[in-house]
Amino acid sequence: DPRLEAISAAIRVVPDFPKKGIMFQDITTLLLDHKAFKHTIDIFVDRYKDMQISVVAGVEARGFMFGPSIALAIGAKFIPLRKPGKLPGKVISESYELEYGHDRLEMHIGAVEPRERVIIIDDLVATGGTLSAAINLLESQEAEVVECACVIGLPEVKGQHKLKGKPLYLLVEPS
Ligand code: 5GP
Repeated sequence: DPRLEAISAAIRVVPDFPKKGIMFQDITTLLLDHKAFKHTIDIFVDRYKDMQISVVAGVEARGFMFGPSIALAIGAKFIPLRKPGKLPGKVISESYELEYGHDRLEMHIGAVEPRERVIIIDDLVATGGTLSAAINLLESQEAEVVECACVIGLPEVKGQHKLKGKPLYLLVEPS
């Protein structure tokens, strides 16, 4: 698919951000490139439009930049999965490991109904820890997580092993 090359080319790599040794994949330059941004959304929409998906769940913050456009196009609702203390209503919470320490994701109770078919969107998967926490949140409400999807997958980390057996759909690797 030639669109994938345009997407890959639009992602900027920033060395030593946020700390030394990290090659940060910056998707803000993808958002600046209308064609490449549209290709990204179109590919996800083509994949999910006929899969009876009623929920797109996006991981804060960069999952929020892709998820709502996909949700609108496939006729699904959008659920933000947020960092702790941001959601005003009653929430459920799920911790996950980081390289140093841990973090949490939260979701509003009542946002998803049992048996709803969900896809979870983020910009990038590395260890899969974040997506696993997202899966746990949705499954705790008896939703059916059909697939996780990211724009970028880091090849050196086998994220899928941590995704509780859920399929992982990726567009590009880091360039
Ligand atoms: P994981 O939990 O899979 O190890 O890390 C994935 C999370 O870290 C995602 O929420 C993603 O936004 C963030 N992340 C880690 N490294 C990068 C990076 O190089 N670029 C971007 N855009 N996000 C990153």
